[in-house]
Amino acid sequence: MDLGIAGRWALVCAASKGLGKGCAQALVSEGVNVVITARGADALNATAAELRALNGGEVRAVVGDITTPAGRAAALAACPQMDILVNNAGGPPPGDFRDWDREAWIKALDANMLTPIELMKATVDAMAARGYGRVVNITSGAVKAPIDVLGLSNGARSGLTGFVAGLARSDIAAHGVTINGLLPGPFDTDRLRVATQGAAAKSGQAFDAIWARRVQGIPARRVGNAAEFGAFCAFLCSVHAGYLTGQNILLDGGGYPGTF
Ligand code: NAD
Repeated sequence: MDLGIAGRWALVCAASKGLGKGCAQALVSEGVNVVITARGADALNATAAELRALNGGEVRAVVGDITTPAGRAAALAACPQMDILVNNAGGPPPGDFRDWDREAWIKALDANMLTPIELMKATVDAMAARGYGRVVNITSGAVKAPIDVLGLSNGARSGLTGFVAGLARSDIAAHGVTINGLLPGPFDTDRLRVATQGAAAKSGQAFDAIWARRVQGIPARRVGNAAEFGAFCAFLCSVHAGYLTGQNILLDGGGYPGTF
């Protein structure tokens, strides 16, 4: 299937590793020109080299923290035209809400709610004016089913999701702009491995035992991989997904137990 987006420009935030990288790989393979960001230059430049080797769209790498005004400005400046925006950033740490002060909450809100809102504010009107736009917000399965130790994530991402439910249905919808949430369940990335290592250290159990138990809880009996996440993201960005907006789509191997 030709996704019909070759030659378009995309900004994929937080894309030196993991799910963001998977999205960038899929888009570049479709001939999309992509700006990727991350805070660490080494990992980002290595990923940019991998993406260029795909011989797809042009690849630009911008070092910076996407949760800061300077990081966002640099990312936007590198993208000559914004057709596709994939919002992503690191997730908040786990913990107990009794230990979180205002600063911890503001940090989580900045990363997982206000940064994507700022980037949509900077881009959706121009997308609407050109008659084509795709925004994919990488959030979490925690939006549908909260994860007990990830209260900061549950809260911040639900705030984003509520805001987007309104924005997606506003006047931009009639001008070819779609906004959807992509909700990962467990995916095999650094984040999941570090979280599993943390759980192993805390409980005294082996990493493999915790990983195996996690997999047992997923009907697909495996965790997801970044390539399949990226392929789904690219489809959401395609010409074929123009009638899909304001939705929150779980990619979790069947882990969420509800009918809807
Ligand atoms: P990851 O740790 O594997 O990769 C995160 C990427 O984001 C890296 O490239 C890192 O350099 C970059 N990054 C982090 N903070 C940044 C910032 N402030 N500015 C710029 N770049 C930044 O993580 P992942 O597994 O790919 O997760 C991506 C998002 O999806 C996170 O918000 C995570 O919480 C969420 N998520 C992941 C899973 C999972 O199982 N992997 C499940 C649910 C939700």
